[in-house]
Amino acid sequence: MMVRRTLPHRELPTVGAWCFLDHFGPERTAMNVLPHPHTGLQTVTWPFSGDIHHRDSLGSDVIVQPGALNLMTSGHGVAHSEVSIDKSQMLHGLQLWVALPDSVRDGPADFQHIAELPVVANGGMHATVLVGDLLGQHSPAVTHTPLLGAEVRLAQQGTYEIPLAESFEHALMLIEGDVTVTGQPLAAGPLRYLAEGRSSVEFTTTNGAHLLLIGGEPFEEELVMWWNFIGRTHEEIALARSGWENADVRFGHVLGHGDERIPAPALPGVHLKPRRRVSQSGER
Ligand code: MN
Repeated sequence: MMVRRTLPHRELPTVGAWCFLDHFGPERTAMNVLPHPHTGLQTVTWPFSGDIHHRDSLGSDVIVQPGALNLMTSGHGVAHSEVSIDKSQMLHGLQLWVALPDSVRDGPADFQHIAELPVVANGGMHATVLVGDLLGQHSPAVTHTPLLGAEVRLAQQGTYEIPLAESFEHALMLIEGDVTVTGQPLAAGPLRYLAEGRSSVEFTTTNGAHLLLIGGEPFEEELVMWWNFIGRTHEEIALARSGWENADVRFGHVLGHGDERIPAPALPGVHLKPRRRVSQSGER
C-alpha cells in the first residue's frame, strides 16, 4: 500500500509530542498488519475511508471506521493488529504517534475508541477536533502533553482563520485540494511548519481543501525511536526488542492470530542515538 511518511523528518523529528505521521492510500487494497508491539507512545488512527479491524493485547476488538478516533496508549508495552475488513474497499487515512513523556511512558496501556468528536462548523469551514482544543471545542481524547490535532475541511472558495495557542508549534499537511497558508501555497504531501509565537493561521482556497493541523508545546525530552519502540536510550530499545522476540508478558497477546506475529528486525550495528532537530524547517 502507498504510504507517505511525513514525520519524523530529518530536519523535524517532532511537532509538539507528535513524532510520527503516515498518510496511507487512497488505494483499493488490503491491510494486513499482524500483531506487533509498541512502547513509549500513543497511536492515533484516523481513517477517511475503509474499515479496519483493530485487536490488541488489552482485549480491545473494534472496527475502526471513518469518523471515529482510535487512540491506543502503549505505556510500558502493548501489542496490536490492524486488518482491513474488505479488500475491495478504498483505504485512506492517517496514522500518527504521540511520544509519551517520562511521567507516564512506563505506565499502563490503554485503548480509547471515540465515536463522537467535537466539530466546529464556521461558514465553509468544518473542523473536527481529534485531540486538544480548537475554537472552544475540546476532544475527549486523553493525551499527556499539551497537544492539538484537527482535521480541517474547507468546502468553498474563501479565506479562513483559525486561532492558535502561541506556546505551541504547529504543522499543516494538505491531504487534498488547494490551499495557501499565510500567503504561501502548500502542495499536497509535505508538512508546513509554523513555529511558536503565532496567534492564528490563515488559509485561502479556490476549490476547497482537506487538511490536517497538528501542534503542541515543543517536546523537550530526547527520543530514541526504532521500529515500533520509543525509548530514551539504546539499551531500553534493545530490551524492548528482546522482550518482543521472547514473547515477554510485557506485550501481552493479541487474540485471533494464533502464533502469527511480526518479528522484530535486527538492531543496526550502531548505537541508537536520540533524534535531534538540526534546523527549523519552514517559516516562522
Ligand atoms: Mn502499530
